[in-house]
Amino acid sequence: MLKLRHPISLLLIALLILLGVLRTYSTPAPVDADAPDVVFSADRADAILRDLLAEKLPHAAGSPYNRVVRNRVVAHLEAAGYEPEIQSRFHCNPMFGGCSPVENVIAVKPGAKGKYAILLTAHYDSNWAGPGAADDAAGVAAVLEIARMAADFPAFDNDVIFLLTDAEEGGLIGADAFAKHHALFARVKAVINLEARGVAGPSAMFETGEGNRSVIRMLAKNVDRPVANSLTYEVYKRIPNDTDFTIYRNKSVMGVNFAFTQGVALYHSALDDPDHLALGSLQHHGDNAWGMLKAFGERDLTTINHAEDAAYIDIFGLGLSHYPLSIAGGLVLFLGVWAMIAIGLAFRKEFRYRQLRWGLLAIPLLFAALLLGGYLLSWPLGRWPDLHPLEHPHPWVGRLTLFLMLGLVTYGTLKLFTSRVSACAWMVLAWAVVFLLGLVLTSKLPAATYVAVLPLAMFALGSVIDLFRKKSPAPLLMASVLGFATSAFISIYHFFMLDVALNFDRSNIKVIPLYLMALTAMPMLLAYVKRRELTWQPARWLLVAILSGCFVHLLLPGFTAQRPRAMTLMYSETGGAERGYIVLESAYGMPDAAYARSHDFKNRELNDGRLGRVVRPVREIAALGLPAVEIAVGEALAEEGGWRRELVFDAGAGNRYLQLTVPPEIGLQRAWVNGELALDTSIAVKQKRHSLTLRVISPGADPLNVELLTRSADGFTASAVTWQDLPGVLTAPFLGNWPDNARPAFYGPRAELIQEFTVPAAP
Ligand SMILES: [Zn+2]
Repeated sequence: MLKLRHPISLLLIALLILLGVLRTYSTPAPVDADAPDVVFSADRADAILRDLLAEKLPHAAGSPYNRVVRNRVVAHLEAAGYEPEIQSRFHCNPMFGGCSPVENVIAVKPGAKGKYAILLTAHYDSNWAGPGAADDAAGVAAVLEIARMAADFPAFDNDVIFLLTDAEEGGLIGADAFAKHHALFARVKAVINLEARGVAGPSAMFETGEGNRSVIRMLAKNVDRPVANSLTYEVYKRIPNDTDFTIYRNKSVMGVNFAFTQGVALYHSALDDPDHLALGSLQHHGDNAWGMLKAFGERDLTTINHAEDAAYIDIFGLGLSHYPLSIAGGLVLFLGVWAMIAIGLAFRKEFRYRQLRWGLLAIPLLFAALLLGGYLLSWPLGRWPDLHPLEHPHPWVGRLTLFLMLGLVTYGTLKLFTSRVSACAWMVLAWAVVFLLGLVLTSKLPAATYVAVLPLAMFALGSVIDLFRKKSPAPLLMASVLGFATSAFISIYHFFMLDVALNFDRSNIKVIPLYLMALTAMPMLLAYVKRRELTWQPARWLLVAILSGCFVHLLLPGFTAQRPRAMTLMYSETGGAERGYIVLESAYGMPDAAYARSHDFKNRELNDGRLGRVVRPVREIAALGLPAVEIAVGEALAEEGGWRRELVFDAGAGNRYLQLTVPPEIGLQRAWVNGELALDTSIAVKQKRHSLTLRVISPGADPLNVELLTRSADGFTASAVTWQDLPGVLTAPFLGNWPDNARPAFYGPRAELIQEFTVPAAP
């Protein structure tokens, strides 16, 4: 019978796998500035970054400080021997309804053949709240350091275009301007984009294009420390996030998109500054981009679009395991049948069909118990303290508590079923479940089949070793151990992967990946405890440990100075109103309740500037009387497909943002700003459009001409919002005792004027 010396060995295997997986989620050491010229050095890139952001201030597109940053980008390219060009225009991306002045910086390293080009790109504008050191000055500094390295490098076959885009934060506007209006884009056949949604962690390759098989092979071969998996890519395709890469991908250009995502509490915050950027992430960005650039450089770029996609996952960041999707079904079938036959042969003497009955109950029960445990723990781990939706500053106590809960449900199942389910019955059922999972994924999500293929493959490999081992202590011991180790890898890898999307308040989902390792450990555990009397005592101790974990976790803060809550003071006024409001704004709707109370903020319903209402903690004051935008509405003109309405906005100087929202009922089809197509509602976006909004970043002092093509002839109410600087006198009384663990994020401090106006019905 299947035997282990001791179950502790399974625990040791799981711990080793955990250490390996933690390598995936860590970064390489930054390379010193005195490293050879052809090696990417994070220290050198960091010096560039600190020069670009010397003042550590936000620099949204079109702002005076963004011009300063742009000039520094140009200076670095010139110092490396390039003759950079600036693509300058007012541009709108009709996909998102965003317009902005755009100043893209472009430099070219000519190739030996020079027919096609590789685009290495990052965006240099920041969001409103912070200097954007990680998002995306790290990408820009990596591109500039690589441009400097490439300058001395012999010419590649292909051209290399270094593109530092502007106005990404306003809706990928600079990238769209390059793709639509720059002659160089026609030759681009491969893109490397560098991004961030956090300030630390590995630079993961999270997005490619359709038919990525060849590119995944290139990634496997040319990147020292690949961090990537095809499930992330599938998930990313379905969530609303976008980067500049979306523009190129939609135009069928192949490529790779890298980003780091740890420290997400600092994303788009005032603390996304050079001092909070992890240099290991910058190093990883640079290593990845340089590795892929050299590979694309010598490659015939007409051959990188393959007919099919690959399934892939990195193994401890040491290498990439990958296979084409067309063989996924065959692999699952072959390995699954192999596993079933191997188990059948090994246990043919002792196996009885009736042994399966209790197993059919126990296997779903283990899953249900795990979900229930996760659900119950989501309260103490997630709901009591105030929590960032994605990140906990001290996650290890919570993680350990979830692992202990896994131990408890596994032990409980073992205790309940030890005399009812034989090890071989559980083994048949467990690997049948993995087999079935593989078959379901083959038809629903083939890119995720590796979840089943890898454990089945290692089980099959182990069974061959078992066959050749002369004196195997037990049938299929090697198969079981290797199958369990690989399952533990899949479990732990995806447990940590979920950190990018969920915090402990969703522990019921966080624990789902852990099922696989419990499922495949059980046959060995059942064999070990056979004819041993199990007591409930260990379960009691585990329960005590879990409760202690919850208690310690509750004492930990949900926010710290290094991982703060997003909280901003802003001022909101509706045109013509006598009262205005100082608002405590929080990106995730969670301002510091104690601070709000002690400073006399009261919850109140406000105009949200998008024809809706929102409840925020506010202090009511006499309206400041912000300078209004003069809005002139022309007569509606009949046109094929609807009615064209012309509006002129004269805001004068001093506004950094103008937003126009119209109600969905009018059937807006297209909108133009100063003659540029600014919104086309027929363009598919990843997320359903909730409101029809036009946004102009840094609109400037001249009147803006807006035309709307609406299907309906009816009159409607529209809303215009402008942003100005927040007068310091308003915020001064609050900043003296502003909480350490709260920092402005996303839109940052501002004074907002909301003007609702009517557009009359067509005559
Ligand atoms: Zn970005």
